[in-house]
Order: sequence, then C-alpha cells, then structure tokens
Amino acid sequence: MNKEEIIKISGEEKGPVSIILAGTHGDEVCGVEILEKILPSLKIEKGEVLFGFGNPLAIEKKERFVEANLNRMFKDESLLSEEEKSSYEYRRAQFLKKYLDRADALLDVHASFVAESEAFIICEPHSLKIADYLPFNTVLSGLDELQPGGTDYYMNKIGGSGICVECGFLGDPLSVQRAEKSVFSFLAARGHISGVLEPCAKSKILKAYKLYFTKTDKFRLAKPFKDFEKIAAGQVVGIDGKEEIKAQKDSIILFARDRDQSNDEAFLLAEILTGG
Ligand SMILES: [Zn+2]
Repeated sequence: MNKEEIIKISGEEKGPVSIILAGTHGDEVCGVEILEKILPSLKIEKGEVLFGFGNPLAIEKKERFVEANLNRMFKDESLLSEEEKSSYEYRRAQFLKKYLDRADALLDVHASFVAESEAFIICEPHSLKIADYLPFNTVLSGLDELQPGGTDYYMNKIGGSGICVECGFLGDPLSVQRAEKSVFSFLAARGHISGVLEPCAKSKILKAYKLYFTKTDKFRLAKPFKDFEKIAAGQVVGIDGKEEIKAQKDSIILFARDRDQSNDEAFLLAEILTGG
C-alpha cells in the first residue's frame, strides 16, 4: 500500500466528508495496521472518507518522527521556527492540510509506549457528539489552547471536529482492537456506514490547564508518574535546574517525562470536570 497518497473511498449516496489518519507518529503502529487491514475491502455507503498515513517516512523507519514532530506542524506559520519549516514533517503537513480542508471531521489514531497506559479521547466539547460513540470512557479537552499544532487542532481551527484517540499501550493487543473499533464507530457516527450506533458513556471528563515547558536543560521528575495519576496541590512534580516545580491545585498528570532541553514539554496538568 502506497502510504504517501491519500486514499479516497466514496459512497453511492451523497453525504459528509471525513478524514481518518494513522501513523501521525510513525511508531504508533496500531492505527497503521488497522488501515492496512481494512482499506482493501472497505465499503462506504454515504459521503466520502479520506484515509491517510500521517508520516510515511517515520512509519517506514518505525520512529515517532524524522525531523520534527508532525503533530506540532499545524500551528500558525508565525509560531514555527525556520528549522521546523525546513523539515520533512512541515512539508508533509502542508500536503495533509489540503485534505483536512476538504473534510469537516477528523479521527487521528494514536497510542502509547508506556505500559498500562489508559486509553482516552482528546477532543474539544463541540466534538462530543461524535466522540460519544467512540469506545472510550475518558475525554481530555483543553489541548488546543495549551498545545496548538496537532491535526485535531487544525481541524477545529477550520471549523470542523478534530478527534484524537489514544488507544493505550502498544504492547497490549487491545490497542489494535480499540483502533479498529474507533475507526468503525467514527464511520457509523458520521453516517458513512450503517450499523448500530452504541453510545459509550464518558465517565471521566478532564480539562487540561497547564503544559509545563522546561526552563533549563535538566528537568527531572520527582518520581515516575503514570498518566492520569492524581497530584495534590503543592506536590512537587519535578526539579527544573534547581527549582522545585509544584502543582498549583489538585490535578491529574499526563505525559510526564525527564527532559534534557530547555523549552521542552515536560508534563501536562488537567483538572477533573466530572468523574473524579
Ligand atoms: Zn501519538
């Protein structure tokens, strides 16, 4: 399967246009495997669906990205450095934008390298009408503001619904099952295929409020944090150079990692809106 090109499947009936991406991070293989498996025989009844492999070169190399994180290349031009703009991923983002522009809803399939990672959806509240049918109980919103530049951010910016699914730990076969179920429930929720729509209750809704960027080239976590671990107000999250970095309020922590560069994303804090 040529992973450079976008694959378009149209239905006989007129209907909405959607786009599904996998491999935006090249080493998150569950979505890539699913697209390879289903695309040769998939039938769409209504509207048009565009399928794409986000970062083909990184998929081939089994790496997250080659020169720059593709999922930060969709922010405003003025916020990208010259180095970023000369990257392979920047050029790939310009190519993908042409197709995102034609759709009004996006599903982007991701997963994690951390064992026991929780599966969840990243979307803003206006996309819950679709996300409600996806097989995940946890929703994280607020990322567009804190971490602009993803495919979902771009889709929201142009007035559509951008949804990312984090399918859990890649070493767990469930990640592939979740990816497959996400694709088919998204297609059904958008009316592209018929089938029973099963709502999946959202038991936990979180809003991200702080993305911490390192100030020095040595950030060390106080301890390893699992995604969605609870943090108390005043608790030390890590040491940045010599400064203790604390949570301002009771929070949930995500994507926490040691860093060796300044101005790098070190952790994300979210507040629980429902389902604490
Ligand atoms: Zn990812």
